[in-house]
Amino acid sequence: MNEDTSKIVNINRTVIITVFMNIFLLIIKVVAGLMVNSTALIADGLHSGSDVITSLGVIIGVKMAQKPRDEKHHYGHEKIETMVTFLLSIILIYVGAKIGYGTIIAIIQKRQVHFTCFALFIAFASIVIKEIQYQIAFRVGTKEQSPALIADAWHHRSDAFSSVASFIGILGAKYKIYILDSLAGLAVSIIVIRVGIKIFMDCFQQLIDISICTDEMDNVKKVIISKTDTKNISDMRTRRHGTKVFVDISICVDPDINVQEGHEIAREVENIIKEEIENVKDVIVHVNPFCYK
Ligand SMILES: [Zn+2]
Ligand SMILES: [Zn+2]
Repeated sequence: MNEDTSKIVNINRTVIITVFMNIFLLIIKVVAGLMVNSTALIADGLHSGSDVITSLGVIIGVKMAQKPRDEKHHYGHEKIETMVTFLLSIILIYVGAKIGYGTIIAIIQKRQVHFTCFALFIAFASIVIKEIQYQIAFRVGTKEQSPALIADAWHHRSDAFSSVASFIGILGAKYKIYILDSLAGLAVSIIVIRVGIKIFMDCFQQLIDISICTDEMDNVKKVIISKTDTKNISDMRTRRHGTKVFVDISICVDPDINVQEGHEIAREVENIIKEEIENVKDVIVHVNPFCYK
């Protein structure tokens, strides 16, 4: 099994586990909501159901991103994962805004939460399950370097946070501290929107071909100059393409060597770049004659 296939297998397995957890939440919340006649609980259950759709989007996006280059896409399809992550970040911002909006409306209408042990228990169970979803998705997402899975993980955590807010609100109602519900709701809204914006900005940078960091570039240049017969590096460009990196480099070599020797140096340069920089997909080396003067 090659690296890419094992990446897909690990990601799919993780997403499927979280999907089953969400189906479980959907069922218990809707059934419980119908039993105690709570529209909030039913709506929350349906939300868990809708989370299944975004998670399936991750599976499809990651799978499509792995497709090898074809006639229409000579550089591969990695950016599909960036696009999926981009959409997930927008959904995350929307979820955060919705929590904030709901809280503000509740404040204006002076709505009060009612305390029941049962509602408290459901909120608690929801926090635990959602946090577990976050933990497994975030770990695998980081290990497999999948921004889409990491964004989905943050979605799970934003749901965990909103359950924390419900929990605090319900508990506050028990002691007649109704303001707790509003404060928790607003705090969660801000946290979720912030995470959403962070992921959104990262994706945006990737979509406009952000380069790797300057320190990393300087390091590679040093290694090339010290280990090969490269006299000078006249230009080097890098760009992120989904989770991969493309590198273009122009090197100057002794003008009196033959094509074969020039080619050997270019090969060495390519190998150094692939060793020194993570996830390099392709390197193009242009060879110029060095001008001694
Ligand atoms: Zn959700
Ligand atoms: Zn294609």
